[in-house]
Amino acid sequence: AILPYRFEGEVVRGFGRGGKELGCPTANMDDAVVNGLPEGLSLGVYYGIAQFEGKEYKMAMSIGWNPQYHNEKKTLEIHLIDYSGSDFYGKRMSAVIQGFIREMKSFSSLDELKAAIAKDIEIARRGTTDQGKL
Ligand code: ADP
Ligand code: MG
Repeated sequence: AILPYRFEGEVVRGFGRGGKELGCPTANMDDAVVNGLPEGLSLGVYYGIAQFEGKEYKMAMSIGWNPQYHNEKKTLEIHLIDYSGSDFYGKRMSAVIQGFIREMKSFSSLDELKAAIAKDIEIARRGTTDQGKL
């Protein structure tokens, strides 16, 4: 099995679009991390745990194609759940991808995208796709 998959790298600048505007900043990982991803790890949204400055955070993460590079460059972006500190460009971060949430798709409206992100974060917070019926 490919998951869990661990990686470590540096947080780089993206285009500063989408993330903070959507209320969901994503720490973009450097090219070495992206290029080192196992082939079988498909594009999509995942959940897991990230470590940064000695602390652990649950994360929601995406692997996708960057439209700014005409979809020829992959990006790996991590949203740390319950992190509310200053920007940390250039810092090292490690993470373990634990599970797959959904495939990437384009949404017909910003509201739909925001709703999907909120759901992704809820799943990532729970740390499982299991609905956990009681
Ligand atoms: P960029 O396009 O440069 O990635 P974003 O709007 O996605 O810009 O913002 C990402 C940056 O915001 C991260 O690199 C990090 O420095 C900062 N940041 C602040 N809070 C968070 C968070 N909860 N999760 C991820 N990054 C965060
Ligand atoms: Mg980002």
